Amino acid sequence: MFLNQPITSLQGIGSKRRPLFERLLGMRVMDVLMHLPCDIINRRLVTSVTQAKAGEMITVIGEVISHHPPPHPRKPYAVSCFDGNYFFDLVFFHGKASYLQTTLPLKSKRLISGKLERFQDRWKMTHPDHIAPPEDQQQLCGPEPVYPLTTGITNKCVNRVIKSALMQVPTLPEWLDEDKAKVWPRWHDAVHQAHNPQTPQDLEAKSPARLRLAYDELLAHQLSLNLTRRRQYAKVEGSLLAGNGRLTTRIRQSLPFSLTPGQESAIVDIAKDMASAQQMLRLIQGDVGSGKTIVALMAMAQAVEAGFQAALLAPTDILARQHAAKLTSLCETCGLRLTLLTGRDQGKKRTQILENLSHHQIDILVGTHAIIQEDVKFAKLGLAVVDEQHRFGVDQRLALTQKGKNPDVLAMTATPIPRTLMLANYGDMDVSIIKDKPAGRQPIDTKVLPLSRLNEVVEGVERALKTRTKIYWVCPLIDESEALDLAAAVERYEALCQKFPGKVGLVHGKLKADEKDAVMDQFINGSVDILIATTVIEVGVDVPAASIMIIEHADRFGLAQLHQLRGRIGRGNQTAMCLLLYSHALTATGRKRLEIMRQTNDGFLISEEDLKLRGSGEILGTKQSGLPRFRIADFTSNPDLYGELFAMANKEARRICQEDPTLSTTRGQALQLLLSLHGRADAAKYSRSG
Ligand code: ADP
Ligand code: MG
Repeated sequence: MFLNQPITSLQGIGSKRRPLFERLLGMRVMDVLMHLPCDIINRRLVTSVTQAKAGEMITVIGEVISHHPPPHPRKPYAVSCFDGNYFFDLVFFHGKASYLQTTLPLKSKRLISGKLERFQDRWKMTHPDHIAPPEDQQQLCGPEPVYPLTTGITNKCVNRVIKSALMQVPTLPEWLDEDKAKVWPRWHDAVHQAHNPQTPQDLEAKSPARLRLAYDELLAHQLSLNLTRRRQYAKVEGSLLAGNGRLTTRIRQSLPFSLTPGQESAIVDIAKDMASAQQMLRLIQGDVGSGKTIVALMAMAQAVEAGFQAALLAPTDILARQHAAKLTSLCETCGLRLTLLTGRDQGKKRTQILENLSHHQIDILVGTHAIIQEDVKFAKLGLAVVDEQHRFGVDQRLALTQKGKNPDVLAMTATPIPRTLMLANYGDMDVSIIKDKPAGRQPIDTKVLPLSRLNEVVEGVERALKTRTKIYWVCPLIDESEALDLAAAVERYEALCQKFPGKVGLVHGKLKADEKDAVMDQFINGSVDILIATTVIEVGVDVPAASIMIIEHADRFGLAQLHQLRGRIGRGNQTAMCLLLYSHALTATGRKRLEIMRQTNDGFLISEEDLKLRGSGEILGTKQSGLPRFRIADFTSNPDLYGELFAMANKEARRICQEDPTLSTTRGQALQLLLSLHGRADAAKYSRSG
């Protein structure tokens, strides 16, 4: 296939400059064709230079009058020309005399194109872009595409290479679905149009040719993602996890609240998946405090109803413990056997737990990484729940699922993921979004203050404590060094202890587990009203009485992290307040982040803004935005448009996987070609292997 050949098969790429071209364009002819123009030059044809303005790109016919080799090597070579009316000079630095004499023979007429300049009362053109015989007029006067370049490669070179590729572009079978094929140009035409822009509109992302090419690219991505991953998740026979409502009804009856519509619909989605023949791979996305845990419990109860076990994996000790604590009483009333397993359970206790687990005397195992260790064996694991799933790698998720025979997987995340990132990374997962919050949640009032007003903050804390609220005080993330962070936290702790003796607690990553528990317990149930913490409280903890969150050096945290932290409060019925303290040296991005936090509580909005801020590459660089790089669909410049296309591609890819998973229909074969053109032939192989 011509399109998959190395770029050296094109005219104009010799072996010497091959690395340069490869860096700019890519390795294959297809890559060259996906290098699209970023601008156009219109070279106006004038009969005399006097009709043009200095700085204009023009084409003019001139007669060569005289050659002026440089008087010494550092001066340029000049050639004087006459347009029938006026003289102008062509200027060449390092010009080779023999070459210039053959291209511009004396007395000959030449079509000359370039940028016209005025210098000391003379018209001149330095290094004209084109010099050609007058017959070539037609070619030189149309709009000329301008390509992104790299040092050492001129626009003329790129144009030549691309023209050579365009001349051989094959007509390909159509892989688009009928509806899209009706409105967008065929691939062959789209490529030609994209490389021959006539007007500035043709350069826009919205032009039909570019839309099509961008969509192709996104479809290839989504199709390969869905083809490869879906296949690994075929359910084993006899693993339908349909429940009978025995346990879930009882859970509902014992809840002190009714579920929100968002929770209800997530539960419905999950129940359907679990009862179906395909393995569930579902992500619950719900802002902090939206009540995902109870949704997970309903799913786990359904698994148990169907005769299976369930596991709930949490990223931190505190969180696993809290889950267990909260769920235990509910489970006990319904007759569900829940056990906690963390790294702290060792020796006899651990052995006993493992034994119970393998004898199916445990229905639900809650825990940290400890539950994915090799010797942890379930009797019959049917459902694996991964809480705060973004904190785990794929390997860990796999390690858990391998403890059963392709169990259903439910992942949960409180980090609202922008839609595009979501599709890029989890495009193969089904998603349920919990948009609403439980009734009665208070909006959080967020204030941004300089650290220099710490005294006022402490006074405010004093007043607030009289209303019996609890306060989180998150200590500065000074730098990457844990020791320094800790020192700052300890310092704040000591200062506040003096002011509020007996009421201040401190948790940080270096504390021993039981010390941590003790402090948390005193904060939740005891005399500690102010909890100084490094970011260990970031994930998932739930203390309804806490209504104030103070974050020092808030500008050093990422938006998502700030939002997570803030989500710890506003869970009770008191008005909640979040104080973001910044140091005086606030960067532009830091300022922007705090401003966004002040303006909105909407996690989804925040995550979109976060992506934009990160996407701009100012601080973290585009790599860290977590998006794969696309040639045409550049999410940083057109997030909304490409987001839309990406969603369309995801929908279509899923449909294809349903209707033609082996890509064997006529269209399926065209889609295989699409995959191979976009370097995703592996996915096509996958589908063929049946
Ligand atoms: P997250 O989605 O952040 O994991 P949790 O599951 O920890 O949220 O729930 C946060 C708090 O809200 C818990 O105390 C939980 O009991 C409570 N909760 C959950 N659902 C509801 C509801 N529908 N109505 C009232 N409170 C609820
Ligand atoms: Mg949670």
